[in-house]
Amino acid sequence: MKLTVLGSGAGLPSKERKTQSIVLDLIPEINAYFLIDAGEALQHQLLLTNIKPRKINHVFITHLHGDHIYGLPGFLSSRAFQGGNDRPLHLYGPKGIKEWLELTFHISGTSLNYPLFIHEIGDGMKLEVEGYTVQVRLLEHPVDSYLFVFEEPDKEGSLDAAKLKEIGIKPGPIYAEIKNSKTFVHENITYRTSDFLGPVTLGKKIAIHGDTRLIKDDEYKKLIENSDVVIHEATFLDYENEKAHEFGHSEIHEVMELFSTLNIDTTIFTHISNRYDETFIKGIKQTLPTNVWIAEDFFSFEVK
Ligand SMILES: [Zn+2]
Ligand SMILES: [Zn+2]
Repeated sequence: MKLTVLGSGAGLPSKERKTQSIVLDLIPEINAYFLIDAGEALQHQLLLTNIKPRKINHVFITHLHGDHIYGLPGFLSSRAFQGGNDRPLHLYGPKGIKEWLELTFHISGTSLNYPLFIHEIGDGMKLEVEGYTVQVRLLEHPVDSYLFVFEEPDKEGSLDAAKLKEIGIKPGPIYAEIKNSKTFVHENITYRTSDFLGPVTLGKKIAIHGDTRLIKDDEYKKLIENSDVVIHEATFLDYENEKAHEFGHSEIHEVMELFSTLNIDTTIFTHISNRYDETFIKGIKQTLPTNVWIAEDFFSFEVK
């Protein structure tokens, strides 16, 4: 599982940063990618990676501001010419996304050669997507903006061969039979399979925010606590909390303060304003703890 920020800018693009798009690489797990947001340069950024558009089969849109969606019609339309034939795509986004896309496709005479399923989301929804649970939470921004929390199921422990050998069962097809049943009998003794399994591996939890002012309620904290990775917006980098709040955005120090109480393994900040030059951003980076990152375009993070 890997996260790649294709566009790390906020609002307006700059020479250094395109507007927001993030890819959750699940190729080793399910041979597919999830895309979160579709900033204007999405297609061009994808061309500079090995990511195949036809393997992006689920797209999650946090909100309908242009810096998060203006790359969407182009991406969907090009996918039809990039081996996307008959490979369905599911799109999840706020109310209005369906009308906007259908009108855009109608006026521009665009037709797709694959099924596109558009699902409009709402606060508190729990989606089941290819074995992952995706919780949806409304944030605070001038338009409806959402947080997506992706949770991988826990993995059952593997069979403890040494323990099985101890009771005289040698490796062979019998191991698969044991694994697939709750109990098994050996030399007239009934055993519970669970006594012969290693520890459960906890599934990973990734939280990806749309634009928002800092949220502090208990329900929100519970939703993101113990995450392996949280991606949060960073429109304000320099202790301008009041201004951030007024514009429905966040300032990174107040976010870090909250996150330090929530057992979050890694924080990635993105949605960086072009008000800051790269030297200033570099200076801020040097002050951050080692588990906190400020993304640039093509920043990649392997979730271990
Ligand atoms: Zn934005
Ligand atoms: Zn916005």
